[in-house]
Amino acid sequence: MVEKIGTLITEEEVAKRIEEMAKEISEEYKGRTLHLICVLKGGVVFMCDLAKKISVPVTMDFMAVSSYGDEKVSSGIVKIVKDLDDAIEGKDVIIVEDIIDSGRTLSYLIQILKERKPNTIKLCTLLDKPETRVVDVAVDYVGFEIPDKFVVGYGLDYAQKYRNLPYVGIIEQ
Ligand code: 5GP
Ligand code: MG
Ligand code: MG
Repeated sequence: MVEKIGTLITEEEVAKRIEEMAKEISEEYKGRTLHLICVLKGGVVFMCDLAKKISVPVTMDFMAVSSYGDEKVSSGIVKIVKDLDDAIEGKDVIIVEDIIDSGRTLSYLIQILKERKPNTIKLCTLLDKPETRVVDVAVDYVGFEIPDKFVVGYGLDYAQKYRNLPYVGIIEQ
């Protein structure tokens, strides 16, 4: 089945915002090496584009957690599917996410990663749905605040499809 998808945020708007975020991050981490942690799979497109615009040295690692399965509604269960390859002790870490919805995934992740004693740890997300927050999480860098709609594209999937869309779209029922 192929869903009908409307545009919420255009490719140009995303690119412009990522450049702004990268500039802000580059200034804040001047003189340091930044360790980006991508939350797979949704965060991968955003992290690659963000990393390319950051001017300080960047190292990368990847982690996979599952909270939704292929459904559109949160199960509330967060599970580590793939852990990091490298230790983060003493590193300046930014966790890069596609979207924060209930906040469950990030609040769990930040908790377990803080125990590994990074020098600093911050959160960066392309999209934020503040209306649907269940767990309070402090997000340091937000690309766009969006309404409570199920979005796809730019890394975000519906049943694993549409991660490759170069814009953020909404599935029209
Ligand atoms: P949270 O734990 O904050 O509720 O949800 C985080 C994860 O749920 C996101 O990283 C993302 O994978 C998925 N998610 C939440 N809202 C959406 C959405 O609107 N579209 C898609 N494709 N995934 C979403
Ligand atoms: Mg995600
Ligand atoms: Mg998903």
